[in-house]
Amino acid sequence: MKALVLEDTQKMVLKTIERPALLANEVQVQMKYVGICGTDKHLYNGQPGSAQAEPPVVLGHENAGIISAVGDDVRADLKVGQRVTIDPNIPCGYCRYCHEGRPQLCLHNSAIGVTRNGGMAEYVNVPATNIYPIPDNLSLKAAAMTEPVSCVMHGIHELNIQPHQSVLIIGDGFVGQLFTRYFAQLGMARVVVSGHNPKKVELLHKIGADEVFDPAEGEHGAQFDIVIECVGLKQTQTQAIASAAKGGQVLMFGVSNPEDMITINSFDIYAKELTIKGAFINPYAMGDAITLLANKKVNVEALITHELTLADVPDVLAGRIDYKITKAVVKL
Ligand SMILES: [Zn+2]
Ligand SMILES: [Zn+2]
Repeated sequence: MKALVLEDTQKMVLKTIERPALLANEVQVQMKYVGICGTDKHLYNGQPGSAQAEPPVVLGHENAGIISAVGDDVRADLKVGQRVTIDPNIPCGYCRYCHEGRPQLCLHNSAIGVTRNGGMAEYVNVPATNIYPIPDNLSLKAAAMTEPVSCVMHGIHELNIQPHQSVLIIGDGFVGQLFTRYFAQLGMARVVVSGHNPKKVELLHKIGADEVFDPAEGEHGAQFDIVIECVGLKQTQTQAIASAAKGGQVLMFGVSNPEDMITINSFDIYAKELTIKGAFINPYAMGDAITLLANKKVNVEALITHELTLADVPDVLAGRIDYKITKAVVKL
């Protein structure tokens, strides 16, 4: 089968590899769409995403396709021909955190498209427990976005949300857009997006932002009950905490460099009673994401800016071609 293999840091090759044998507890999926994510860029450059990639490995953790084979021990109602999406995360099931129902904190987490072969290939074998059949009214292209939407859902689950609150979303990329759409639909008092790209302003208003501002042109001035940081840079993380109102909640969602340190005003955390939370991957959120996507509450197809081929991916990850991509999917 054709597969895009990350052979080493910054070395990715489109080649023919043997289709792996299917284990008894696995399902084989013929890939139809796979999303390209900021995490793939980190992995390509040798940095960790949800875990560290260990080349040679096939990336691709935002997957949708059709079941092409089912392992002997798979007893769930999974059948050849079924349209499915895949939860990439595989918690160990036996560590303290798995036993406490917090699998995202698993001490031995592995992930499809990170630590084991993912969807940037014609076929992928995954544990049956990671398979989610999708309803007929959800396209495979939109279904490939289930994983990023589920990560956003986990972030939402982490917050105490009330309709009178104001929200600042830092970052105008795909994830910032998903949060914008979600908060706008909840009917929050005010949804403000901080972003640099003037071309995205119209779209952000269309999907529900009350206001879009460019932090390069000065501080916003207002303070917000909820601040979502979707960039992962030191300056935007500092901006996030400084932008929180008294009693505010700050969600650290963007993936930062593991070495990064930021300076925060510790008196503010005390006197403003701030809550600063991380949101890591997508525990128990795939089902919610499928429901939202199938009901067109998040019209992700309108947010996907590019449809590419596998051969395009190395150039995109290396930044060799400026496609002006917000969100790209590969069609297989
Ligand atoms: Zn991703
Ligand atoms: Zn575990």
